[in-house]
Amino acid sequence: HAKANGRGRAEYFTQELADEMADRAQLEADLRGAIDNDQFALVFQPQVSLPAGRIVAAEALLRWQHPIHGLKSAGTFIQRAEETGLIVEIGEWVIQTVAETIARWGRMGVEQRLAINISQRELDHAAFFNRLRAAMMAANAPSRLLELEITETLAMHCSSEVVAMLELLRADGATISIDDFGTGYSNIARLRALPIDRIKMDHSLVAHVADSAEARTIAHAVIGLIHGLGCEAVGEGIETQAQADVLRVIGCDVIQGYAIAEPMDEAAFIAWSRTDERRALAG
Ligand code: C2E
Ligand code: MG
Ligand code: MG
Ligand code: MG
Repeated sequence: HAKANGRGRAEYFTQELADEMADRAQLEADLRGAIDNDQFALVFQPQVSLPAGRIVAAEALLRWQHPIHGLKSAGTFIQRAEETGLIVEIGEWVIQTVAETIARWGRMGVEQRLAINISQRELDHAAFFNRLRAAMMAANAPSRLLELEITETLAMHCSSEVVAMLELLRADGATISIDDFGTGYSNIARLRALPIDRIKMDHSLVAHVADSAEARTIAHAVIGLIHGLGCEAVGEGIETQAQADVLRVIGCDVIQGYAIAEPMDEAAFIAWSRTDERRALAG
């Protein structure tokens, strides 16, 4: 009896593993198709200053219009794109599209800085920064309207060549941000040495500031550290008015999250950026 049970379990796990492998293979095939069939789009999420509630930038986030599963968020496929290296080609599309978007908005009188997310695999390619500069130049998009987000983990491990390229880009006027701060292992000396302007505190670091004194104290201390580094503190994943209120009180400079606005397509973002509803929320 026990033996039969054991075998049943083994078969169950084997089937599960087989299903998972098939899913991954399908996702990879679909991702290749997505590049060829132009199924990607960018959505834009505003970031607003505290306490004024003024829009200071927008983060461009990747979306995939899947032929069967509908609109998919980056969180559902980025990791696979990174593992397979497809992120390099997808990233080229992102760079190109962001450069064109910055220029198009400029012609419409919408001078908005746009932040893009960069993966390790993209930075591994020596051509990355040249492509980025070339795309910005070709579109006639000014570097001061470009922001690069690199995760804390990536920032701790990138090569001195990458740091030098970031320095060049920053000298051109671009903004450099550390993303998902509080999820990796930061070395303070290294943080000081990096050419960075802003640090985005991960959702997990600010999620409980409204209901936990401990969380509030920690967030307050982290904001002090960020300011000590001469950087702007950005709170990510802000979902409630209460969180926004606490962050304002403890000195956070900028917030981003569903409490302000969800990521929007271009038309909705432009309409939103022309209203001042957000002021009420940011206080
Ligand atoms: P991220 O850069 O930390 O982006 C924030 C994620 O949180 C986004 O998920 C966003 O839609 C979501 N979010 C925004 N506000 C809230 C909120 O109030 N609450 C919660 N719970 N979530 C919120 P998304 O779009 O699925 O992106 C996931 C990750 O994928 C991003 O994390 C980023 O690391 C990566 N990513 C997105 N677009 C790109 C891209 O174009 N290129 C690369 N290489 N990576 C990208
Ligand atoms: Mg980001
Ligand atoms: Mg983040
Ligand atoms: Mg993230």
